[in-house]
Amino acid sequence: MAAKDDCPCRSGRPYKACCEPFHRGVREAPDPESLMRSRFAAFAKKEIVYLWRTLHADHEDRARGEAEVLRALKASAGTYRYAGLSILDRRDADESGVAKVLFLARLFEANVERSFVECSDFKHDGNGWRYVSGVLKSVRSIKGDPAALTIDTFPT
Ligand SMILES: [Zn+2]
Repeated sequence: MAAKDDCPCRSGRPYKACCEPFHRGVREAPDPESLMRSRFAAFAKKEIVYLWRTLHADHEDRARGEAEVLRALKASAGTYRYAGLSILDRRDADESGVAKVLFLARLFEANVERSFVECSDFKHDGNGWRYVSGVLKSVRSIKGDPAALTIDTFPT
């Protein structure tokens, strides 16, 4: 059972020594995996401004504008219980600057499992790592053990 002050990104470290400094803007997440973890924790903590700030300029939601995206995030905050996070695979930035992280997010809406595996793309924008896009598959749609997937075997 996780302690009350454990970071929701499931690092096993206290929130204040893990993702909180990123959420507060004290410092930037140092690599794509940390940024991904901090975004998961931000969903759990309803840190919606951080979720907006860490969207890359190329992310499709950016075109909708800050006010609308924040409104949508606010409306959906609290829908899910963020029960777990496992990083399954990662790939350093390629020549176009895109790094990948494959992760398994465990979440529940009331008692219904909404867990999914996502392969996310991240890019550094000069200030920090940002979320560009992701391909998401529900755990139910995946044949076999979702935790055994790699970037190469993830069905896209
Ligand atoms: Zn964390």
